[in-house]
Amino acid sequence: MNAVQTPSSERLETDIQFVKGVGPKLAASYGKLGIHTVRDLLYHVPRRYDDRRHLPPIREARPGQFVTVRGRVSYVESKPTRGRAAPIRCVLNDGTGSIALLWFNQPWIAKKLREATGEVIAYGLVKEGQWGPEIASPEWEVIDPEEEAEGFARIVPVYGLTEGLMQRQMRKAATAAVTGYADDLSDPLPPALKKYEKLPDLVWSIKKLHQPDNAEDIEFARRRVAFDEFFAIQMLVQLRKAKTKQEPGIAFRFNEADATGLFGEANDLWTEVKKILPFELTGAQKRVVGEIWEDMERPMPMNRLVQGDVGSGKTAVAACAMLAAVRCGYQAVLMAPTEILAEQHAINFKNLLAPLGISVQLMLGKQNARDKRKALDAIKGGEARIIIGTHAVIQEGVEFANLGLAVIDEQHRFGVLQRLALRQKSNLVPDVLVMTATPIPRTLSMTVYGDLDVSIINELPPGRKPIKTHWKRASDRPQVYEGVRKLLQEGRQAFFVCPMISENEKLQTQAAVDLHYRLSSQVYPDLRVGLLHGQMKPLEKEGVMDQFRKHELDVLVSTVVIEVGVDVPNASVMVVEDANRFGLSQLHQIRGRVGRGQHQSFCILIADATTDDARDRMEVMVATQDGFKIAEEDMRLRGPGDLMGTKQSGNLDFKVADLIRDLDLLERARNAATKLIASDPDLKRPENAGLATMLHGKREDDAWIPVT
Ligand code: ADP
Ligand code: MG
Repeated sequence: MNAVQTPSSERLETDIQFVKGVGPKLAASYGKLGIHTVRDLLYHVPRRYDDRRHLPPIREARPGQFVTVRGRVSYVESKPTRGRAAPIRCVLNDGTGSIALLWFNQPWIAKKLREATGEVIAYGLVKEGQWGPEIASPEWEVIDPEEEAEGFARIVPVYGLTEGLMQRQMRKAATAAVTGYADDLSDPLPPALKKYEKLPDLVWSIKKLHQPDNAEDIEFARRRVAFDEFFAIQMLVQLRKAKTKQEPGIAFRFNEADATGLFGEANDLWTEVKKILPFELTGAQKRVVGEIWEDMERPMPMNRLVQGDVGSGKTAVAACAMLAAVRCGYQAVLMAPTEILAEQHAINFKNLLAPLGISVQLMLGKQNARDKRKALDAIKGGEARIIIGTHAVIQEGVEFANLGLAVIDEQHRFGVLQRLALRQKSNLVPDVLVMTATPIPRTLSMTVYGDLDVSIINELPPGRKPIKTHWKRASDRPQVYEGVRKLLQEGRQAFFVCPMISENEKLQTQAAVDLHYRLSSQVYPDLRVGLLHGQMKPLEKEGVMDQFRKHELDVLVSTVVIEVGVDVPNASVMVVEDANRFGLSQLHQIRGRVGRGQHQSFCILIADATTDDARDRMEVMVATQDGFKIAEEDMRLRGPGDLMGTKQSGNLDFKVADLIRDLDLLERARNAATKLIASDPDLKRPENAGLATMLHGKREDDAWIPVT
């Protein structure tokens, strides 16, 4: 086949094995990196760069610095230690000094080093070793005489590799792709947008990323490609948002008479709400309820996210929205991420709504066949006005009579796809309200929830005292137990949360059972200690929660099943065992179980944090109670994908963009997308054709995060 005659976009789809120096064998290794075509290779941008223009002499390498050193191997040593592969110690010398390089468990390296005829270059963090400076597990390569001839003193790209691929091979392939194919890339961004955003050309950027002349170009080019990544996802999300707005939804008519006959005389929703809620809403709650009601009155479907830190009173806000829907004659559903939470919501709603005679139906996966049948009938027949449940609510077989509003509590644990499933449950397009306790930093929520309108409850109910958080070592347990005892004697209640030892529920349960045994028989034999874990039957769980709520228990030992949402205002102490095993956002959620009443609350984190990372996390928890700050820290420490609780972080795996470093870019991309869609909603203009093609290739689902 004659490459010259192939249309350019097809040339970019050329199989990687046909790139000079690759071949079918190496192609398999490239495949492991997700590189199948020339285009993939061009977008496989270097992980970092080695600036070989001014390599410092080894003598100047200081502990604590990342350095690139170059020198000759003066000796290689690998002494096997009992049973284990020998650690390798190699000393590199450049005439000014020497530095040791260390490897563990990679015996083959010794052979390669001994065979090295030329100089070796190594990169890594310098530490103070037993015999002077050393670098453990450095990145390294033997200097290639050929490359040397091309000019060694350059900025050299360093690529992410996989087994069987060498830096030198990757560099060669990338060079071949850049010289032979990069010019075929067509720039999807309309010229006016590029000019306005002061972004360089795509071809130039890709070339510079692989073959840079200076650091400024790299950053300029990197930000261009990062912009594209953000822009694509913003376009997808916002196009979908625009589409949702065109669907016919329900226009709730609050000003008409009560459709149910269950409410009082008053025709004003605020008056109805006041009669039902046991407290005055905070200003922030009122504002958010107002925003929700306004959405509900509009004929387009509502898609609103309510962000409010733990304890800010999201349930009451949801209740107001649901009440309004019910009053207009529609059903409202509330979905919770755990059965315990669903049960708690059901109890609260029953208490609130019983005086009005509004029926509240609980729907759980574990219900027996008869209860389930009854629930299904009531939901289908319309007798059930308010339905509360877990994901069981969106399972096959559930049919609603006239679902008007769906509230999803603690969305981050739920999954966005389920949001869709719920909307397909009804022949009307119901309004959707999503509630979350802001473990999502702003950057992320802009990316993930970009298609939602956002309301923020930025105020806590009055009288809340900040929770005092203490970090204690395992050896401090006796004092912790004594301190907790004092509070229990004053009439408070305490939670003890066991660590999530593994994903294995049995093991978690065992940990809770053990702790329960220890506390009830040795530490607090005179007090009432209850136990809650995920393997209990729903009725048992309900029973225990109920006892704790009624203060028939002083202490509740639990696995993380109580992490989200549980609300017992008299509980004022939270003891977290092995707190270092939890992520920050999770600890924040757990801590949020206390500090909900008038009493001074405490959170005790028991952790022998041995790593820097664990110490950092404990210190953040002690230092702040601000959910946003904690979420940002969490993202910094763990990376965004992990934060969402997804192994497969999907579209958050940006190749180039960095959600933390490039925040300003994300905002720019978002604004640019908004403007572009406003001026050309169907992307029909010729200058937007490239963009339309690019987006067409991406499934709409790409913009959703799959949460499992
Ligand atoms: P979250 O936002 O974490 O879901 P909840 O809805 O569970 O918070 O509310 C936390 C606690 O605060 C509950 O005990 C609730 O009854 C109480 N609460 C909510 N709003 C108010 C308010 N405006 N005034 C007083 N207490 C309130
Ligand atoms: Mg809640």
